[in-house]
Amino acid sequence: MSQQGYVATPPYSQPQAGMGLSPPHYGHYGDPAPAGAPPGMTKPAGPLGAAPGAVLPQGPPPPGPLPLGQNGAHAQGLLPQRFPAPPPASSAAPAYAQYAPTAPPSYPSPAAASPASQLGAQLQAMHVGGGSGMAPPGQGPPRPPQPAILQPGSQVLPPPPTALNGPGSPPLAPPGHRQGGLPGPAPPSAQLQPPPLPGQSPGSGYAPQQANYGPPMPGPQLAYPGGFPSGPAQMAGPPAPQRKLDPDAVPSPIQVIENDRATRGGQVYITGTRGQVPPLVTTDYVVQDQGNASPRYIRCTTYCFPSTSDMAKQAQVPLAAVITPFASVPPNEGPLYLVNHGETGPVRCNRCKAYMCPFMQFIEGGRRYQCGFCSCVNDVPPFYFQHLDHMGRRLDYHEKPELSLGSYEYVATLDYCRKNKPPSAPAFIFMIDVSYSNVQSGLVKLICEELKTVLERLPKDEQEEASAVRVGFVTYNKALHFFNVKSSLAQPQMLVVTDVGEVFVPLLDGFLVSYQESQPVVHNLLDQIPEMFADSGENETVFAPVVQAGMEALKAAECPGKLFIFHSSLPTAEAPGKLKNRDDKKLINTDKEKTLFQPQSSVYDALARDCVAHGCCVTLFLFPSQYVDVASVGLVPQLTGGTLYKYSKFQVHLDSPQFLSDLRNEVEKKIGFDAIMRVRTSTGFRATDFLGGIYMNNTTDVEMAAVDCDKAVTVEFKHDDKLGEDTGALIQCAVLYTTAGGQRRLRIHNLALSCSSQLAELYRSCETDALVNFFAKSAFKAVLQQPVKLVREILVNQTAHMLACYRKHCASPSAASQLILPDSMKVLPVYMNSLLKSCVLLSRPDVPTDERAFQRQLVMTMGVADSQLFFYPQLLPIHTMDVKSTALPPAVRCSESRLSEDGVFLLANGLSMFLWLGASSPPELVQGIFNVPSLAHVNTYMTSLPEVGSPHARSLRVVMGILQHKRPYSMRLTIVKQREQPEVAFRQLLVEDKGLDGGSSYVDFLCCVHKAVCQLLN
Ligand SMILES: [Zn+2]
Repeated sequence: MSQQGYVATPPYSQPQAGMGLSPPHYGHYGDPAPAGAPPGMTKPAGPLGAAPGAVLPQGPPPPGPLPLGQNGAHAQGLLPQRFPAPPPASSAAPAYAQYAPTAPPSYPSPAAASPASQLGAQLQAMHVGGGSGMAPPGQGPPRPPQPAILQPGSQVLPPPPTALNGPGSPPLAPPGHRQGGLPGPAPPSAQLQPPPLPGQSPGSGYAPQQANYGPPMPGPQLAYPGGFPSGPAQMAGPPAPQRKLDPDAVPSPIQVIENDRATRGGQVYITGTRGQVPPLVTTDYVVQDQGNASPRYIRCTTYCFPSTSDMAKQAQVPLAAVITPFASVPPNEGPLYLVNHGETGPVRCNRCKAYMCPFMQFIEGGRRYQCGFCSCVNDVPPFYFQHLDHMGRRLDYHEKPELSLGSYEYVATLDYCRKNKPPSAPAFIFMIDVSYSNVQSGLVKLICEELKTVLERLPKDEQEEASAVRVGFVTYNKALHFFNVKSSLAQPQMLVVTDVGEVFVPLLDGFLVSYQESQPVVHNLLDQIPEMFADSGENETVFAPVVQAGMEALKAAECPGKLFIFHSSLPTAEAPGKLKNRDDKKLINTDKEKTLFQPQSSVYDALARDCVAHGCCVTLFLFPSQYVDVASVGLVPQLTGGTLYKYSKFQVHLDSPQFLSDLRNEVEKKIGFDAIMRVRTSTGFRATDFLGGIYMNNTTDVEMAAVDCDKAVTVEFKHDDKLGEDTGALIQCAVLYTTAGGQRRLRIHNLALSCSSQLAELYRSCETDALVNFFAKSAFKAVLQQPVKLVREILVNQTAHMLACYRKHCASPSAASQLILPDSMKVLPVYMNSLLKSCVLLSRPDVPTDERAFQRQLVMTMGVADSQLFFYPQLLPIHTMDVKSTALPPAVRCSESRLSEDGVFLLANGLSMFLWLGASSPPELVQGIFNVPSLAHVNTYMTSLPEVGSPHARSLRVVMGILQHKRPYSMRLTIVKQREQPEVAFRQLLVEDKGLDGGSSYVDFLCCVHKAVCQLLN
């Protein structure tokens, strides 16, 4: 067959020919039509501007003697290899067999002893033994290829008592092997369980009184609603005895994480070598910048790009970079050096406008330099001239960050400012919904009290003594109330705007003030607000006019800024952006399901565009008691680089700590305002798609009203020519922004990747966590335009394609019965399956529409560390915790089979935290944590642990603190007792298990992918 089997470059923007799918509809929801910004509201040319003149440079202190090496060649250890045509694929029928209800995929016995199968057997033995011999990635490339080869059906063993199971938790057999609550080794040939009984239907069938803590839906895959396309259930190879794949024989994320920690943890990661794969996001390491950006700033799906687009199409491995330009870094790795080239501004390539960086090659005695991105030869400006040493390197190489470092900042000149004027310091405007229920619930009082403290912590630049950020205050229900808090006033003054159709700002002087100067008036106001509206019976609110008003205020003050909006209800009052309740669960699994993710009115998109054009970032704190249409109101924070927080059914006495912690973090965190990002690449490839909390008026400039330390933009690249193996693939990300102190700066991140004509090199250099980030964002973007069922199918197809291509072109010959996973993608299936089961891609009866929209928007701006935790939560056996140590107890896999009745487990995914108490939890542990005599006395309604001074309580707090550290959202704690109702939410996060309402188990998904791979190869 033709190459069609491996077509499909971008997963969602081109039809997957030959895969039996209907052509996806195209469209880029997040990328507005290039209509152009409103007149007079465009941003400055920014990174495109020219750099005239000449002035002496003022270099920063030298970053220390750094050896050369940013262009270190990536060793090519493999023999050249010819790539036969890709395997055929059925062009008519869907390529993937539906799960046969009564028979798991049949696997023949292990193949004859080919090298691969021997390796497979070794690996499998290691899996089973829980050892650490699983191909640890070495420090730096090249990594030896260590594919994981699975031979399903060859053995069925109970999990061994390894350290991962913890001393206190006896190993349990996998769910499929447990009947009648009797743990123990499974029979050598596990029999299939019957399908669920009628009374055990998903959702309602969770029976707390069930004696055995058995699988929620015993039996084979029946109810993956549209999970995988149906089709012929053909398997490669001869039929085999029906056996269940041993969960311990499949790659374990925990093992992969632990191996990386063991081999690379605590080490210095030197960024000098091109194309080296960094440690995993779950590993602690120290970065030493020697010419490439830290992986905290840029993390790629692969560190070796295929040299041709044909290769890229063959492999279907996405080529993408997840860029977190303001990522938090440890104190010993930051802050970035600030380069000041004076009035001339940064030195840039005349043709492609790339900024001076380690990829520029100086020639002709230092008088000219060749651009690494476009090869243009430029004159060195006289002020920037320097002689070269015998290696052709500038003598001042070590003194200039822009010559020797991957990341640094430039002071921007007026050319880079709006209207060529220095920017004003940003402002924060606090906008509080004072409708009846908010006042009555105590929320308004809570916010006002907290603001008094939070305002002391406004962000400032490194050298500043006091924050330059100004503040303003608005309250609203159906009308807007502006407050004059000028320092000269004895009392704040209120100005009411009732015409919300054409909102205007009634005062300029006295609205945005310095908190230091106006503190008494501001405190006076914050004391008065709760009483001011105590007698108001107003329940209706507006929303869009609130955003509009805040934006107009910033515009009038000619400064960028951030709105903090505290909002509770569906904005039903007569005004622009008025919304009606259109929640409709009947749309689920129909072609109209996508409308649930789309905004109800075009007002919100236009509003977000205006906000971005004026550098107005919107952060929204939502306190909904019912449907508020997150898909509509949440669009504004998403597109303006703000954050959306949602506290459903908020109760002041329970949920305040979580909200207040988020509010403090949101006010304090590192942030750049009024930003434009531009990603430049060397010739042969370019950035084609951008996924994140961004707005784009054209195809290249990524506009962000603000960008903070937690926000990442995922950038996809495509070939437009052949890439040279010697030059590699270079990326430069430049972010023009305004600091909290009102300085205009450019932040530059450079990264050099390898290129190869060997597919094996591509696979060897993949980074699964970044791949999952890319797949999640592109899928969550696609659900705005396409049925979720189709999006799921595309994800499954692409996973199979990547693995089939690896098997065909990179792996040693082996039996068809083996599923072969490249070492770098060993745990891709478990993460992909978790993504497929996320509530965005697979609706569940217990998940409200707003929650799905919320999680969709959240993931769109996530960095790799956050998406990794979100799709593979951390599960810690607290009962194995060493109270004398500050180390975390070793994590266990996210499966019910890893729980034990006499254990206590903590689970966290970045949004929520669960403390699960086994039915036979050790009484001393329960006593130690809760200070109650038995499990029955534990109050599960609490959202924080009681203040108990015991060693157990202290250790648990430390553990929770470590999990929470650096996470953008304060995780809400839920106490869950085994076999009690709230356990359902907890069990949904055990992502290796079959979902309670559909969704495959990890093992079943592996079988499904294996089948798909086999079909592609036939
Ligand atoms: Zn250039």
